[in-house]
Amino acid sequence: MTARILDGKIIRDQIFAELKDEVRLLTAARVRPGLAAVLVGENPASQLYVKSKIAACEEIGLSSALITPPSTVGTLEMLGVIEDLNRDNDVDGILVQLPLPPQVDTKRILEAVDSAKDVDGFHPVNLGRLVSGRPGLVACTPAGCMEILRRNNILIEGANAVVLGRSDIVGKPMALLLMHANATVTICHSKTRDLPDVVRRADIIVAAMGKAGYVEASWVKSGATVIDVGTNRVTDLMEAERLFQNFPDRLAKFRAKGSALVGDVHPDAIHTAGALTPVPGGVGPMTITMLMSNTVKAARLRRASPKFSATQSTAGAR
Ligand code: NAP
Repeated sequence: MTARILDGKIIRDQIFAELKDEVRLLTAARVRPGLAAVLVGENPASQLYVKSKIAACEEIGLSSALITPPSTVGTLEMLGVIEDLNRDNDVDGILVQLPLPPQVDTKRILEAVDSAKDVDGFHPVNLGRLVSGRPGLVACTPAGCMEILRRNNILIEGANAVVLGRSDIVGKPMALLLMHANATVTICHSKTRDLPDVVRRADIIVAAMGKAGYVEASWVKSGATVIDVGTNRVTDLMEAERLFQNFPDRLAKFRAKGSALVGDVHPDAIHTAGALTPVPGGVGPMTITMLMSNTVKAARLRRASPKFSATQSTAGAR
């Protein structure tokens, strides 16, 4: 058996097409959604992430602004930046690229963002809304995992779902979203006993641990759905050989490049799972997609008339 591949790029393209239509309508109604990205210092990885987020804004027609405080910025100055963006009516979404330098109080900065503009879904008000099942802005990666499940018609209601990882940005919100969609959810973490046994009972496995190929194929129930959030760069040859023993093409690419991206689930699970997100190309493309969706949603909720919101596409509806 070979699992059905749940391709995140296809879902991204669908959602982008829906968002483009929605942005066109909003812009015609004089509400052009806008995202402001705050990028502190010159961390190359952060610069790359922000660049792709701004490119995505351009692709779907959102306005974007980039604010680049120096790496010496303090908490008070950063609070000033956030306050200005909170007051700017043209800014619907505020994205603070993490990590911030050590002298900045990250928690205080994230909590200063207006919860109506919190397109990362990190604000306690949005987390509280998620807990109580009320509409709000949901963290992008777990929201993207739900889109993958729904748009591939994976049955969630009544399913046994196992979430591996309990971080604030992935594991916890993921578990809540699955619970609200009527799955029976088990959350696992580093202290969970008999992890293979727990995973074997799952109809849906969401792996978000950050451990390359940790979940073995034999733990995956035949036909289960695997959503692999893990994004691990492997550089060790022995590890690559363990992971790609049955994938000579991937091993050859690893040898040529010296590294490879691998999920938390062993690639051999493709022969036990019923459906599975590849790494790369599964959950990865969904995070920026949902950031765009959240920005459009924030603009609609904050600025568009109720009449307008009643006619919207389902891209941002959760
Ligand atoms: P994190 O904050 O490091 O959390 C990891 C979680 O995994 C923790 O809850 C930890 O348990 C749990 N864990 C670690 N070892 C375990 C084990 N042996 N058995 C069971 N649970 C274990 O990570 P994160 O930020 O949630 O990210 C998780 C992964 O997703 C990373 O690979 C990250 O790169 C990736 N990611 C991808 C995207 C994307 O766009 N595709 C977005 C975000 C994250 P404890 O709580 O007990 O320590």
